Amino acid sequence: MPELAEVETVRRTLEKEIVGLKIKDIDIRYENMIDCDINDFKSNIKGQNIISLNRRGKVLIFNLSNNKNILSHLRMEGKYFYEPNLNLDNKHVHVVFMLSNGYYLMYQDVRKFGRMWLRNNDELYTTKPIIEIGFDPVLDKSYDVEKIYKEIHQRKIEIKATLLDQSIIAGLGNIYVDEVLFYSKINPHKPSNTISIEEVEKIIKETIRILNLAIKYKGTTIKTFTSSHGVEGEYQKFLAVHTKTICPCCNSKLICDKIKGRTTYYCSMCQGEL
Ligand SMILES: [Zn+2]
Repeated sequence: MPELAEVETVRRTLEKEIVGLKIKDIDIRYENMIDCDINDFKSNIKGQNIISLNRRGKVLIFNLSNNKNILSHLRMEGKYFYEPNLNLDNKHVHVVFMLSNGYYLMYQDVRKFGRMWLRNNDELYTTKPIIEIGFDPVLDKSYDVEKIYKEIHQRKIEIKATLLDQSIIAGLGNIYVDEVLFYSKINPHKPSNTISIEEVEKIIKETIRILNLAIKYKGTTIKTFTSSHGVEGEYQKFLAVHTKTICPCCNSKLICDKIKGRTTYYCSMCQGEL
């Protein structure tokens, strides 16, 4: 699944290619991917220039010249391709934007979980999906530790499950949660309401550090993620525990189990036993 670092990599790659171009036409081949009336979606997009390409959490925001925005969530397998030729044989391409320079921006999604929304500039941050996205550790330059601590503390579920929910801290998916909790020395099974404010501070600092480093290395290539043009991430070289067997800190055997159905790696020596 593309996580925040991978979505930011997609954004940076696409930004250089499509910003400033006009969307001449749009072809929607799988209508359920669009979260509003298809004709409204098309008529609001056709003929507009792409002013900027932004991001909030894992949502890409294509800002258009008519003060509307296309929001795009890649979910499990969504990918964008920017190419001069249209491949009509690819049955996994569900949305095609025809651009003013003759290129096509194609959205491919093998599992069809991705979604697109249309929002005005003035409702962007007050409506779904953006309103549900918490502190963005890469975009937001300041944060309120007390507020994040209170939100985490209200929950009894395991800390990893709380962090996977994007509403408190955005952008932590399965890979980076394991890394952040390892460097914060917190057991992923620890109940959220037993996490101290000092631990919350560690989680935030490690999240900022690890996500920025992952973006620098263009994300993590595990299984199916490649950004547009097949840019492959290199952060997997730096993973400490996720997909590993031995703790890089104390040489103990790492534990691999499941939290909310997601494969979880941690060291019970370094992160504490429960
Ligand atoms: Zn260890």
